[in-house]
Amino acid sequence: MSNASNPLATSRIAVLGYGSQGRAHALNLRDSGLDVVVGLRPNGPTWHKAKADGFNVAEPAEAVKGADLVAVLTPDMVQPTLYRESIEPNIKPGAALLFAHGFNVHFGQIKPRADIDVILVAPKGPGALVRSEYERGRGVPCIWAVHQDVSGQAEAKTKGYADGIGGGRAMIIRTDFKEETETDLFGEQAVLCGGASELVIKGFETLVEAGYQPEIAYYEVMHELKLIVDLFYDGGLAKMLQFVSETAQYGDYVSGPRVVDAGTKARMKDVLTDIQDGTFARNWIAEYQAGLPNYKRLKQADLEHPIEQVGAKLRARMPWLQPNPAPAAVAPL
Ligand code: NAD
Ligand code: MG
Ligand code: MG
Ligand code: MG
Ligand code: MG
Repeated sequence: MSNASNPLATSRIAVLGYGSQGRAHALNLRDSGLDVVVGLRPNGPTWHKAKADGFNVAEPAEAVKGADLVAVLTPDMVQPTLYRESIEPNIKPGAALLFAHGFNVHFGQIKPRADIDVILVAPKGPGALVRSEYERGRGVPCIWAVHQDVSGQAEAKTKGYADGIGGGRAMIIRTDFKEETETDLFGEQAVLCGGASELVIKGFETLVEAGYQPEIAYYEVMHELKLIVDLFYDGGLAKMLQFVSETAQYGDYVSGPRVVDAGTKARMKDVLTDIQDGTFARNWIAEYQAGLPNYKRLKQADLEHPIEQVGAKLRARMPWLQPNPAPAAVAPL
């Protein structure tokens, strides 16, 4: 497919990282007729995958040399070293440095050279969906931002990249690095990963401590959460309320605000303040540099929680949840 109208039509794009986002971006950009090289550590975990997908794969420093746009799609915590060692000494003046999350630029972990554009395109979906929607001729909405424009073309390049990965077929929304970074961190901490997992765990513990069977508790507070989240995703609160019973709705109205109350909201604001004033970023960077002692301990505690034992046992009896349903007998409950 050619894409002569894309502002990046004659550009070389280096995609650094070939994980969830990197692979989807690289494949979509290539299918949009753009010139892509993938930058990875030789023989790293995804090196062979990128080769097998037919890409020109080079070490990051080599991929950056000669690129007009460098997309940094490695894990956020390896980006500062990658920038210092492979990008900063090699990126062409006037080229664009693109991120899918603003953390490192916003919190000063990467201080981009003054002679390059610094831009952001973040699809509002996981890499697999960014790819599958593109293959269906559609796209996943993206948010985009310009942090530094030295070429006078930063906005055009950003939109060209968003078009190239399919976002332009859906919708693109302008943001800035501060808004993208702070809202992303808040969402995952207060509501999505942190809030939702804690709500499930506390609900499970409440039922089990009251003498109910862990198996029953698991179904009620974790398994069925997917049904509710799918309704939110498809049609917001209205669809959820439409599909649950009147009893469930009444219980929602009177009991939900007792559990998640003004105190919860005040603590959400504290979490947001820690994100905004840099406390969270400082703590997380120090934790990472110390070798993740608390992260590992807290993760282990989650993995050893009783809900995980009962969950593994129950999921083994729901073959539709297994990637490759095993016909062999499963242990009796
Ligand atoms: P990932 O963990 O899925 O993939 C990381 C890739 O980087 C792998 O190919 C890995 O081999 C490679 N890599 C690791 N260290 C490297 C190094 N030192 N040098 C070169 N390559 C290295 O990452 P991801 O989830 O796709 O995240 C990439 C970026 O996209 C992050 O900034 C993230 O915040 C952002 N983002 C992710 C999602 C998502 O759905 N996963 C959504 C929006 C934005
Ligand atoms: Mg996010
Ligand atoms: Mg995030
Ligand atoms: Mg948790
Ligand atoms: Mg029920």
